[in-house]
Amino acid sequence: MATKIRHILSLSGGKDSTALALHMRDRIPDMEYVFCDTGKELRETYEYLNRVEAYLGKKIIRLNAEAGFDHWLKVFNGYLPSANMRWCTKLLKLRPFENFVGDEQVVSYVGIRADENRTGYISTKPNIKAVFPFKDDKIDYEGVLKILRDSGIGMPPYINWGRTHSGCFFCFFQKKIEWVRLLETYPEEFEKAQAYEKISEKAGKTFTWIQGLPLSELRKPENINKIKHNYEEAKSKAAKQRDNRRLVEVLAGMEYDDSEPAPCLICQL
Ligand code: SF4
Repeated sequence: MATKIRHILSLSGGKDSTALALHMRDRIPDMEYVFCDTGKELRETYEYLNRVEAYLGKKIIRLNAEAGFDHWLKVFNGYLPSANMRWCTKLLKLRPFENFVGDEQVVSYVGIRADENRTGYISTKPNIKAVFPFKDDKIDYEGVLKILRDSGIGMPPYINWGRTHSGCFFCFFQKKIEWVRLLETYPEEFEKAQAYEKISEKAGKTFTWIQGLPLSELRKPENINKIKHNYEEAKSKAAKQRDNRRLVEVLAGMEYDDSEPAPCLICQL
């Protein structure tokens, strides 16, 4: 008897994985939709996923790691995750996903668009075969927007206050301007993020989300003004030279910067 192949689509709460779920709804009837919940996600993500779930007419299975962020932070002696040490993605996103998959043969649906040229950080288990339907179906950024618009689901709501990616509220991949927006929109989340930081005189014992700029410094009015000013300058420069960049992405601060480490696909796609 042929082995049954499972079809799994991991939603992050971001626009691309959401649009992919909507796109695949009637194409793969036995699709399993999952969301790896770190327990530290943006508050709008939970509400957004409920709406997506209603549209799909199918449960989005919430996968929680056995031990959460705070547990692992203790294990790592307060060492905050960073682009070079992504223990959070590995332990809170990838591991729950891989445990859910087990050893069965799985096709994993990934929402990289036709207009993107990135690989990102995904599971490399041999029984998981990644497929990229947006690439196969030539669906680009405009195509994703159309899927979201036509379904009535729309863009993820955190875009409205200037956050560009899904994932944890303290995600180290956010840009300085996004930290400022977090402070102005959800000060209590900013406080929680700040409380994770440790400043120490001892070498190697200072842990901050942004290297060299603790949140206690970033939040000072003079620094906020500087960050906003730099952002406005970069934005008008990008708008002038945008070439084939989409102005809407630039305005939202969503331009993809190749010089920075690629964010984790499972968190932010
Ligand atoms: S969203 Fe950011 S902080 Fe959260 S698990 Fe992913 S990489 Fe880590």
